[in-house]
Amino acid sequence: MFLDRDGVVIEEVSYLSSMKHLALFPWTTDAIRALNRAGLPVVVITNQSGIARGFFTEAFVDEVHREISARLAAGGARIEAYYYCPHHPDGRVAEYARSCDCRKPGPGLIDRAARDLNLDPARSFVVGDKWSDVELARAAGARGVLVRTGHGAEQSRDRGGRAAADAIVDNLAAAASWILKSLKSEV
Ligand SMILES: [Mg+2]
Ligand SMILES: [Zn+2]
Repeated sequence: MFLDRDGVVIEEVSYLSSMKHLALFPWTTDAIRALNRAGLPVVVITNQSGIARGFFTEAFVDEVHREISARLAAGGARIEAYYYCPHHPDGRVAEYARSCDCRKPGPGLIDRAARDLNLDPARSFVVGDKWSDVELARAAGARGVLVRTGHGAEQSRDRGGRAAADAIVDNLAAAASWILKSLKSEV
């Protein structure tokens, strides 16, 4: 289970650069716990070009991820691992200012996670609030679910010729239900 971070797991605030703006959606913990209970490894994959743009550091992103995990743990939910792309071709921090294969919809983050955690992308799901997340799912042979939170409200109104989502749902809770239901119907 690959989850986009901003606008899916936490509120989209456009370059989260202060811990005081970090907010899980009210349903996030329950949704992730339900996926955990079904035995699905939950992995976050996120573009964090704010690092390349000089808005925040990799250390800060790691700190945010530790804080998300701590809040989830308080509700018995767990994210297996976080993978992020720190790059952007127009970045102003030299070491990150380049094109790469890990900026979604590039497959780099899923490839790395699949290798590290021994996951099969073809049996995976990607949940995101942008069409680029759905495109990534397509490219990886996974199923793609678009949520209407974050950028999803506006994105879901206009597909702009991009690959269709397997489902478009209100939020991560609905995505988790949809995924668990479709897995159940496969056995
Ligand atoms: Mg997002
Ligand atoms: Zn990258």
